[in-house]
Parts: sequence; C-alpha cells; structure tokens
Amino acid sequence: MFINEQHPDPVYAGRRKAALVIVVNCGQAAKTCFCTSTNTGPRAESGYDLALTEIVDGDDHYFVAEPGTAEGRSLLAEIPHTQAGADNVTAAKDSTRRAEDQMGRKIDLADIKELLYRNYDNARWDALEKRCLACGNCTMACPTCFCSKVEDVTDLTGDHAERWREWDSCFTMDFSYIHGGSVRATTRSRYRQWLVHKLATWLDQFGSSGCVGCGRCITWCPVGIDLTEEVRLIRGSETSPETADG
Ligand code: SF4
Ligand code: SF4
Repeated sequence: MFINEQHPDPVYAGRRKAALVIVVNCGQAAKTCFCTSTNTGPRAESGYDLALTEIVDGDDHYFVAEPGTAEGRSLLAEIPHTQAGADNVTAAKDSTRRAEDQMGRKIDLADIKELLYRNYDNARWDALEKRCLACGNCTMACPTCFCSKVEDVTDLTGDHAERWREWDSCFTMDFSYIHGGSVRATTRSRYRQWLVHKLATWLDQFGSSGCVGCGRCITWCPVGIDLTEEVRLIRGSETSPETADG
C-alpha cells in the first residue's frame, strides 16, 4: 500500500528497501489463530531473506535456517552452522504441522465477497452496534490495516517523547467526515465497513484478502468480538435467519 499505490510513503519505502527480513515459522499457534483458513501460514512461503524454524527436542535446541535471497544466504554464511540433515528437515515440517493442528479457529472464505455484499442489511450488524466500542484496537493490532492512528506526544516537564503516525482509524467519526457530517455515523456502519473491507472490498482493491488470519483483532478486542464468528453467523443467517440476531 505504501509502496505501489498512487501516494507512496518515501520513508516507509526507504525502510522496506533497506530491511533484512528474517521470519520465524510458527511452531505454536494460539486459540485465536486461523492462518490455515486464509492460506497465509503457519509457514512463510515467500518474502523473506532468511526463514528460521525453531526446534526444541529434549536438550537439543537449534534452528533450521532457509535462505530466501542472496542477502539471506550471505548472512547465513557468516553464522556458524552445519548442513541440515533429513531428520532436521523432518523436525521442521513436524513443527509446522503441530501449529496447523493447534489452530483454534477457522473461517469459511468461500464466496466471501458475494456473501458480504449480499448482507449489507444483515441483523448481525445491529448486534455489533450494541457490542462494539469503536475503540479502534482492532485497526491498531491488525498487520494489514494502513489508515493508521497513533499519537503519544508529550513534553511539558518530561525529557521528550514523540510517536506520531496519524491519519485515522476507520472506527472514528472523523474518518469519514466530509462537509456536513460523517458518512458513517453509527458504530454498526463503521464495523461493517472494516469487516467488509478486510474480507471483500480488499479483493477488488488489491486482488487479495485483507485478512491474514493472525487473530490479533480477536485478542485485542476489549469486548471479545471475533470476526470468524461474525462471518459464521452472517453465513448461517442465510439458511437459518434466527442466528443473525445473536
Ligand atoms: S485476523 Fe485478520 S482482520 Fe484480524 S488482525 Fe489479523 S489480519 Fe487483521
Ligand atoms: S477492538 Fe472490538 S470494540 Fe474495538 S473497534 Fe474493534 S471490534 Fe470494536
């Protein structure tokens, strides 16, 4: 988003270009994880310079390292290592398989775009109006959200502190403010915009889902809103309408 779109962010683009990306393949999933449903994990398939899989086997503790680029290869060459054997490779595969089995949630993404586009008026959004605090935690925790909001600026007596990155979270009234008022005045409409953007309009915009199944928005939601549950209830409401009132 900050590199290829109409308004690239030169600071971000510079940092990305200079970054060395070292990933650690997941060997321990949480109850909130569902990256197997979104096809984004638990193992990194691309985009890294060096991928590590941590193996703890009794007293044996080591990493299986796989370079993905020339930079990763040259870094690895500088680190004392031995060539991985078949048993090490198997241990790394087993680690990924364990994480897959530990996924605490799943989401059915079949026809998700059409499902959500058909359900702009689903009663589930009304239930979310009552539950969602519009705190924006989910947008802060989500690795793919980019409209931003963070602001800690201080210094009256302290030494100094700063951390800006503003624009706004789509959960605020100001986000959609135009002359005359906010387009999305209700929490219902703001949650709906967020979820529909993640799972549906993102596909139109970027050709991929805006959700990587990390479950961070579930973990950090103060009232326990779970997008996998919302999608399940919306889907279920098309066949059993009573589940939509939740
Ligand atoms: S589960 Fe999806 S929507 Fe939630 S924080 Fe992760 S990527 Fe974002
Ligand atoms: S974290 Fe939960 S309560 Fe806060 S805006 Fe997101 S869904 Fe609503």
